[in-house]
Amino acid sequence: MVTIHNLGFPRIGRKRELKFALEKYWQRQISQHELLDTGVALRQQHWQDQAALDLVPVGDFSFYDQVLDTSFLLGNLPARVRGLPGDALDNYFRVARGRASSDEAECSCVQAGEMTKWFDTNYHYIVPEFDQDTHFSLNAERLLEQIQEARQQGVTAKPVIIGPVTYLWLGKTKDGSDKLALLDALVAVYARLFKSLAEAGVEWLQIDEPILVTELSREWRHALTKTYHTLQSSPVKLLLTSYFGQLQDNLRLACELPVAGLHVDAVNAREEVPKLVDWLPSHKVLSLGVIDGRNIWKTNLNAVLAWLQPLHARLQNRLWLAPSCSLLHVPVDLRSEGQLDGEIRSWLSFAIQKLDELQILAKALNDGPEAVAQTLADNAAAIAGRKASGRVHDQSVKTRIDSIDKDMGKRNSPYQKRSILQRERLDLPLFPTTTIGSFPQTREIRQTRRDYRAGRIDEETYRAAMQNEIEHCVREQMDLELDVLVHGEPERNDMVEYFGEQLEGYVFTQYGWVQSYGSRCVKPPIIYGDISRPRAMTVAWIQYAQSLTGKPMKGMLTGPVTMLNWSFVRDDHPRSTTCLQLALAIRDEVLDLEQAGIRIIQIDEAALREGLPLRRSQWDNYLDWAVRAFRIAANAVRDETQIHTHMCYSEFNDIIEAIAAMDADVITIETSRSDMELLDVFDAFHYPNEIGPGVYDIHSPNIPTVESIVALMNKAMRRIPAERLWVNPDCGLKTRTWEEVRPALRNMVKASVRLSEKLAETC
Ligand code: GLN
Ligand code: ZN
Repeated sequence: MVTIHNLGFPRIGRKRELKFALEKYWQRQISQHELLDTGVALRQQHWQDQAALDLVPVGDFSFYDQVLDTSFLLGNLPARVRGLPGDALDNYFRVARGRASSDEAECSCVQAGEMTKWFDTNYHYIVPEFDQDTHFSLNAERLLEQIQEARQQGVTAKPVIIGPVTYLWLGKTKDGSDKLALLDALVAVYARLFKSLAEAGVEWLQIDEPILVTELSREWRHALTKTYHTLQSSPVKLLLTSYFGQLQDNLRLACELPVAGLHVDAVNAREEVPKLVDWLPSHKVLSLGVIDGRNIWKTNLNAVLAWLQPLHARLQNRLWLAPSCSLLHVPVDLRSEGQLDGEIRSWLSFAIQKLDELQILAKALNDGPEAVAQTLADNAAAIAGRKASGRVHDQSVKTRIDSIDKDMGKRNSPYQKRSILQRERLDLPLFPTTTIGSFPQTREIRQTRRDYRAGRIDEETYRAAMQNEIEHCVREQMDLELDVLVHGEPERNDMVEYFGEQLEGYVFTQYGWVQSYGSRCVKPPIIYGDISRPRAMTVAWIQYAQSLTGKPMKGMLTGPVTMLNWSFVRDDHPRSTTCLQLALAIRDEVLDLEQAGIRIIQIDEAALREGLPLRRSQWDNYLDWAVRAFRIAANAVRDETQIHTHMCYSEFNDIIEAIAAMDADVITIETSRSDMELLDVFDAFHYPNEIGPGVYDIHSPNIPTVESIVALMNKAMRRIPAERLWVNPDCGLKTRTWEEVRPALRNMVKASVRLSEKLAETC
């Protein structure tokens, strides 16, 4: 018999119940009891949803983040929360977000833990903190209680925890000490945990070591070997779990670690499976993650079954099946999508449906395919339907892709020559000032958009309201005497959704939420078909804005790589192909803007860095096609049209060459928090074009002073010549209020003037 199990279930609830309960709790609108009850109810629901599995995950539910839960489990709390009032949950939220509740007294607020991306997903975890004095202690009540809860519900619980080596790897030492020096102490706590779990009647434990899919140094590989040899006599059976990629040079290591079973991502690492079957000692279970936990497409069950049958014949009871990774990264239930186009819906599978797929595979293997003949036939029809659908394939798009030649991503002239023409045409002062695109989105603006969507107001009323807001933004910017203006983006709910909705090949869900961090969820749109742009998407708004001023108005677009990285993408052709299709659509928009007389066009690539593969050895390939896509989108314009791009992250040292290769005339970046540290890269690398290092941290309500901006710009001037510097905030202003934005920008403009005067004096 094949065993089926799940690595983790989405925790936010079908209608984001967890989000709403958390936010109410932080606002003190519900009690701690009510919050805890929401947790109990969600877990019960989730176990019920998974009741058909042989083993269900326990410990995957979290009120904020599973890595933070692990820090609590291991008694690793930052010293700054010790001795504060309240209970463990208060401290938990303090580490998560700086405060236990919105009305928390200043004196018990702390600096929130750092948040960063969970491998190559869009989920963010709270980074564990270490120093040389870090002590660990076991704090397993929460986990043990949940095992009890699950048992009462009649399901077989398989606790899920992050393994000690990955836990250390994910964290940061605050005093520069060596994290690995803590390993022995940490492993001792894990050993104690295993004992408690065994006493609680646990048979199998899922222990996640996803670092196995990354490039590991000898020290870290050794840490894995040492850890699992120490834990060898564990009284519970360990299922060592890797996901998100291939094991590659860690494959033999993974096979050899002395555990009872190994789970691998058989979607991304399918080619490695034959080797695993050969190498894995014959007493070990092999769990194959055959259902894609990172995407929303129906599995081709017949194909997977045909592939599994010989493996099953060989492994028999040692074969387990699961999704490739935790289902945290997909929406909960397709059945909630009442309004989705029927045909497209028939191609999709969310968490609940993915678990159904798992059951069908197990039944087909255990009882023979005849036992599920009808279901397999239906699945084959859906897969074939998608493959052949005229809505997926657009010959004209394919023809256009085929006709891309190597010059398509090139500007006519090099930057040096273009910049002279642009200077003449734009007539900008030294240290030109601009903003990143959006201005504060007030409640009224959001309401107007909602009213229009719901059909409560007609198009004309909507357009007038938006034009009114654009006019307001332009007036404010004129008053502030900014040099390059923006229209303010009031018509956009989201920088990807806004464009996706106007492109062919995209579809949107109603409840397809995925947790991004804590209570924050995102709803990635789905790219199901070849992408094309039926009509101009932004030209009318930008043209209107430009008509209100003689100063240059920037056309604002989202770049192809960001569109790609923030969507669920097709699995029937490479990501790079979809990216090129997006690039062609954006290219058309760029040319339309230019045609309409727009002199500066900004193409945001906020998410370019996020797409970097987990293994460095694959970075170049990604950067090659990503940069090429950007260039195709941007570079068809005439020399005198200025292209800007914007990126939202502060570490770009390691990809600076790729960024330079994009050949944007101006790039604006986030730097204000890191005190221009990131500009260190320019000591070694001569960045050829213009740069606007963000001098105003828009993530904080604080108003930067003129002096602080001047100081930051002075730092920038040590690396980049003044005539290639711009002055701007580090990201869009949509989350701020006008009361914050006005004085901040006023100071920014003053700083620019002061810098120019200073420079004139010294020359
Ligand atoms: N133009 C967008 C804005 O200003 C950019 C947002 C972003 O970089 N995330 O809102
Ligand atoms: Zn940004």
